[in-house]
Amino acid sequence: MKFGGTSVADADAITRVVGIVKAARESSGLPPVVIVSAMSGVTDRLLELTQAAERRLDAHMLNGVADLSRRHFEAVERLLPGDSANHVLAEIGADLDDLRALLKATGILRAASPSAHDAIVCTGELMSSRILAAAIEHGGVPSSWVDARRAIVTDGAHTAAAPLAPETREAVAREIVPRVAEGRVPVVGGFIGATPQGVTTTLGRGGSDYSAAIIGAALDAREIQIWTDVDGMLTADPRVVASPQVVRHLSFGEASELAYFGAKVLHPSTILPAVAQDIPVRILNSLRREGCGTMITADPPPADRPLAAVACKRHVTMVEITSTRMLMAHGFLRRVFEVFERHRTAVDVVTTSEVSVSVTVDDDARLGAIVDALREFAEVNVEPGLAILCAVGDNLRTDPRIAQRVIGALEGFPVRMVSQAASRRNVTIVLRDADLATAMAQLHGEFFE
Ligand code: ADP
Ligand code: ASP
Ligand code: MG
Repeated sequence: MKFGGTSVADADAITRVVGIVKAARESSGLPPVVIVSAMSGVTDRLLELTQAAERRLDAHMLNGVADLSRRHFEAVERLLPGDSANHVLAEIGADLDDLRALLKATGILRAASPSAHDAIVCTGELMSSRILAAAIEHGGVPSSWVDARRAIVTDGAHTAAAPLAPETREAVAREIVPRVAEGRVPVVGGFIGATPQGVTTTLGRGGSDYSAAIIGAALDAREIQIWTDVDGMLTADPRVVASPQVVRHLSFGEASELAYFGAKVLHPSTILPAVAQDIPVRILNSLRREGCGTMITADPPPADRPLAAVACKRHVTMVEITSTRMLMAHGFLRRVFEVFERHRTAVDVVTTSEVSVSVTVDDDARLGAIVDALREFAEVNVEPGLAILCAVGDNLRTDPRIAQRVIGALEGFPVRMVSQAASRRNVTIVLRDADLATAMAQLHGEFFE
């Protein structure tokens, strides 16, 4: 059971989570394993304080740590009685001392190394997991805090580390399984891991979902539950479309496409470990636990709607690479993609014509260097301010009329790129970001209203 940041935002939210865990413990022979995110907004704040430390804004940085300290101490005091509160306060106090030391060192060096960055941002999940473990215990269910850095073993790619499966399986068997066997609920901070040498790493933003799937797979869990602040996977991003509906069933393939193309409710890597072992993933609302949520499996019941859902990714940039001389020559695409690989920048949508290749990127941090490298052998045109709209549904594979309807629903919008995956589970369209909300409303209206 993974609980996101809003599900543990304050003492009231944590009390609700304790209730959900207690009910799960009572209805099942084995205790659930709990994975928890940092309290909402804490990771963003830690990143902001890292930047403040780098710029030697020491007072701002220290005030920020004091805010974090107050927020966590207040939750502890509201949730726990004297003795257990003191115990947790001492542990969180030590985490905050480490944080202050790391930020101070960052200020002296005027830069946070990737390993310092991960050691700083992991503080949020360390603190929330300690509080939740104690709150569950206080709620009458035996519980143990588990140090995620001893349970998830990763490579050394700081800020976007990848789990090492055999090592993690061993670590989970050592750190988590014995607690379950004793009937205790293990509580693990999401998002964080460590290298085999014990250096703290993080799995990328939104990575607690991924932690849940990694641990679920290592445990051969019956189900992976993602508890969040919406009723499940919705037919569209609720921040863009007015009243999306819950999708009751999704296939692993559909869920991966939606997560990859912007449905933030699920981290894009979450599905992978679940697919590998065919473990169902369920998305549920911690604010409305009686809802059915969304069930994601390999073979969901046949959908009665043509599309499962539509997703969108905002603020992407298109790079158009033209070469009259080179495109027909073999090796051209390799040269193009090598440039993106060298700069560790992922490409989302790709289309080609006889003389050009167009790609989109959502991370433009290295764009300048990428464009310079491409200009050594091609003409390059960059167009920012675009958005990706992605219609997803397994039915697209069997019914060609659905793709036509998707394109038809977008009549009148200047479309910059169109692509249909080989699996034909999605139709992806790139258009102006300024048109996104109306285009999404029109497409959603056509298929879901
Ligand atoms: P958590 O903190 O629980 O991990 P997130 O904020 O990461 O929660 O993800 C949940 C949010 O994802 C929702 O509040 C919603 O705004 C956003 N979201 C975007 N697209 C979708 C979608 N298709 N279905 C559900 N939620 C979505
Ligand atoms: N706290 C981390 C983040 O905000 C991980 C997560 O919440 O999933 O990115
Ligand atoms: Mg999330």
